[in-house]
Amino acid sequence: MTESTTDLNENNWENLKKDLKKIVGSTAYNNWLNKLSFLSFDKNIISLSVPTKFLRDWIVNHYADKIKSHCSKIDKNIEVLKIVVKPVGGRIVPGTARVIKGNETKWGGNLDIRNNLVNNSTYDFGAPLDPRFTFENFVVGKPNELAFAAAQRVAEDDKVTFNPLFLYGGVGLGKTHLMHAIGWNIKNKNPERKVIYLSAEKFMYQFVRALRYKDTSAFKEQFRSIDILMIDDVQFISGKDNTQEEFFHTFNALVEQNRQIVISADKSPSDLDGVQERLKSRLGCGLAADIHPTTYELRLGILMEKAKKRGVDIPAKVLEFISHRIVSNVREMEGALNRLVAHATLVGTSITVETAQLVLQDLLKSNNKKITIEEIQKKVADHYNIRLTDMHSPRRSRSVARPRQVAMYLAKFITSRSLPEIGRKFGGRDHTTVMHAVKKIEELKQEDTNFNEDIELLKRLIDS
Ligand code: ADP
Ligand code: MG
Repeated sequence: MTESTTDLNENNWENLKKDLKKIVGSTAYNNWLNKLSFLSFDKNIISLSVPTKFLRDWIVNHYADKIKSHCSKIDKNIEVLKIVVKPVGGRIVPGTARVIKGNETKWGGNLDIRNNLVNNSTYDFGAPLDPRFTFENFVVGKPNELAFAAAQRVAEDDKVTFNPLFLYGGVGLGKTHLMHAIGWNIKNKNPERKVIYLSAEKFMYQFVRALRYKDTSAFKEQFRSIDILMIDDVQFISGKDNTQEEFFHTFNALVEQNRQIVISADKSPSDLDGVQERLKSRLGCGLAADIHPTTYELRLGILMEKAKKRGVDIPAKVLEFISHRIVSNVREMEGALNRLVAHATLVGTSITVETAQLVLQDLLKSNNKKITIEEIQKKVADHYNIRLTDMHSPRRSRSVARPRQVAMYLAKFITSRSLPEIGRKFGGRDHTTVMHAVKKIEELKQEDTNFNEDIELLKRLIDS
């Protein structure tokens, strides 16, 4: 191991990395720690960088203690390890510092405004904003373009145009992301503005607590001094009459003072059950923008963006596969990507559709309720103008054999049926026939762009 030195610098950093390799083992080292670079050493702080946030988080969660204690061993002055994100050839990304001191990790650095929020006196009754949820990180497509545009407008405009902005849609479609993005934007433009984001649940909790301590006037004051109030998942106050009452008054007070309000819910204002009529009509009197379920294109766009952010190289085929097969919500799709990357890195295999199928089995199952092989056969038969019975028939002429192969390929791609199961549904064919069909179609897709587009079109038809 490295001999004791008085301080750390770029020269002995290389030695230190060698030590780390011995400590964590070369596989883990090559997967994770190899990408660490030395930034600076200052008094008791050693600062390192990694190219992606994903790496940073992984290292902070799994190796930070080992790194820090080894650094302290080499230089006993070192008490703090700081890891920031710095893309290769780029500059340090603001707000990405993580500080490891003792056994705790802090969102650290004084790199940008975001960290000020923690010291903001209003932080207590709001919730902190997630640094990942910005407009830049939001992928826009048909299903969310209205909500996105409205959110941007609210964040950009100094005057209040629609009040409230009411964002609604199903789980995991980006409502919370957009609200945080509004918060960041406003805060970055003008740090003085009081932006409060909290869940309806927390609002209720605060209110109930105020009631208990007979301190409702302070509660009211807190809320009424806000510039922008954002309340997430407002469906939560359904059936809670006292909370609704208080919310209604808070709402009115803010609107009267021309303060911006942003609300999210899983349903439109008029569809909210267990909410007083007058509150519903209040909620609906600004702009209600819904986020529709994602389309295949949007899911693919989001995945590509997330993969890029990670700095991981994932074959397009795999991203397409996930976008096709995980349709319920974006959060789940992100989870799938995380799992796949972690698996590939740990096991050291490359990422293919086959590994994705294996590693994501459970997720794929739960997302697989809808599309059956019969439906695929029907859509493909319609598309190529052949009879549905030809999917099962022994006929081998090209005009029916090719569409049949396409249907087999899509059955493999879209459902989680095994090759023998698929074979059975195609007139009792052998699994090797299905395998051959899948290979053939993949080849044709590679060779012939028209054919490829045709298949993509079919996928969309089947999905919709
Ligand atoms: P909701 O509040 O509607 O349930 P979230 O805002 O929590 O959903 O989104 C769930 C996850 O999906 C978050 O990690 C978010 O960043 C991501 N996400 C959703 N929509 C998009 C999008 N259009 N672009 C990028 N990420 C998205
Ligand atoms: Mg949410």
